[in-house]
Amino acid sequence: MNNKYLSIIGLEIHVELKTASKMFCSCKNDPFHAPKPNIYTCPVCLGLPGALPVPNKKAVEWTVMLGLTLGCEIPLESKFDRKNYFYPDLPKGYQISQYDQPLCKNGKLDIKSGKLSNHQIIQSSNYPIEKTIRINRVHLEEDTAKLIHQNNQTLIDFNRSGVPLVEIVTEPDLRSGEEAKLFLQKLHQIIRYLGISDANMEKGSMRLEPNISVYKVPEVNKVYKEEIDLPNYKVEVKNINSFNFVKKAIEYEVDRQIKLLDEGITPKQETRGWDEKKGLTLPQRSKEEAHDYRYFPEPDIPPITWAKSQITDVKSQIPELPNVKLSRFIKDYGLPLWGAERLTENREIAEYFEAGLKINDLRFKNNNIKAKDLANWLLNKKIDISKVPPEELIKQISTAKIVVQVDEKELDKIIKLVLNNNPKAVTDYKSGKTGVIMFLVGMTMKQLKGRGDAQVIREMLEREMGN
Ligand code: ZN
Ligand code: MN
Repeated sequence: MNNKYLSIIGLEIHVELKTASKMFCSCKNDPFHAPKPNIYTCPVCLGLPGALPVPNKKAVEWTVMLGLTLGCEIPLESKFDRKNYFYPDLPKGYQISQYDQPLCKNGKLDIKSGKLSNHQIIQSSNYPIEKTIRINRVHLEEDTAKLIHQNNQTLIDFNRSGVPLVEIVTEPDLRSGEEAKLFLQKLHQIIRYLGISDANMEKGSMRLEPNISVYKVPEVNKVYKEEIDLPNYKVEVKNINSFNFVKKAIEYEVDRQIKLLDEGITPKQETRGWDEKKGLTLPQRSKEEAHDYRYFPEPDIPPITWAKSQITDVKSQIPELPNVKLSRFIKDYGLPLWGAERLTENREIAEYFEAGLKINDLRFKNNNIKAKDLANWLLNKKIDISKVPPEELIKQISTAKIVVQVDEKELDKIIKLVLNNNPKAVTDYKSGKTGVIMFLVGMTMKQLKGRGDAQVIREMLEREMGN
């Protein structure tokens, strides 16, 4: 095989926003916890004729917030359009979406691979990855109802119908499955930081669709140019629910398409599905073009217009983002890169860490717990932050640290003293009333003025009394 190929990969990502109500009606937006199908419905989200949609302000603001975070321009005017197609999960016969005037456009996201670890198998030859992926647009639309196939029947649940759905579309700047995975992980992290979606792939609140084509480089030294040389076909792989599957599906597709191109065949423009069990993609339908949808402006919703101050206001609501937090953790707390990375992986652990430091500063000033100590405990001991509150963890660390600080000889002396002063307890213990040990631990702790680890003291007492 002498041909040189370049894989051209773009991504489309759908994310369900976790607003309290749906996109165009006031029905509850909580399809995953609904006790029964079809209870969060009304004429609007059931698609009944004549029902009037009213856009959800929060959903619009959150979409713009995401767009701003991704460096997008926010046009001062945008609008909703009807995307016409027929499917049983879409009773109106069209989806309210955005066509030529999306809420956000022309953004970018930088991706960067971490250091190579031994267990990582890297297929791409140009590692480490560090590049900018352009984002074409971020727009807002509505989710469809959910089809449930069982016992040769198909049932429809409208609880999901009309849930606000953000669509993020990248330019075809990605060149490998690994790059796509990195991009998606970064995007997922940002969405979770913003707190606008659970972005849970198993539940389908974040859905991933790579589109893949392969460019045959005609001459050895010819430089690839996006606009001129984009392949004249593309294969879209629908609704994948994990980053690893996206990576695998892309790698499979690139191989499949290269084989065809080597035989002189141009791959078909089509939509395919990823079969995880077989590890391959299968054709689903030939890919439609935009004009098949006959987009036209949604007549029931006036265009959205922004005053610049409103956009500034949305911008001010963006929380500290992972990259900024990462640098700050390194600078302020002297953490190593790997530790700072893990402590800023998600907002929950970052906030837990800083809450712990604050409690330490306010109430345990003399404990001498440094940011690094807390970081080490959190990460090395794999603390379950949903179960151990930060205050509790700070206490644990200070207790453990003091054990180290108490001189062993001093501790030994105190234990002998406690045993001498409490002969009855010792006799009781030796005659089998072992419960009395806790009394002796307590007496020792008292001598240590609260310093010391109960478990260590208990073991020393037992050893001393010949057990
Ligand atoms: Zn409704
Ligand atoms: Mn869409």
